[in-house]
Amino acid sequence: MLRVSIDPTRCEGHAKCLMDSPEVFDLDDQGFGFVKPEVDVVAHEHRNAVLRAVAGCPEYAISAHEISVEER
Ligand code: SF4
Repeated sequence: MLRVSIDPTRCEGHAKCLMDSPEVFDLDDQGFGFVKPEVDVVAHEHRNAVLRAVAGCPEYAISAHEISVEER
C-alpha cells in the first residue's frame, strides 16, 4: 500500500499533481497542493497516477512510500 504526502515548504503551486490525480490531490485557496484528508492510503486504482505525480512535481514536493498493513 502506498501513502503519499506533500511537503508544504517545497510546493510552489503548479497544480500538476491535481491534474495527474484529482482523486488524491487538491489545491488550497492559495493554489498549493495537499493530499485530500480522506485519502489515508492510495487506492490501488490511483497508484500509477500518484506515482506519475510524484515523478512530475517540479519541486520534488511529493513523497510516496510503501507501508505494510500493520502500519495503517
Ligand atoms: S505539482 Fe508539486 S509543486 Fe505543484 S501543486 Fe502539486 S505538489 Fe505543489
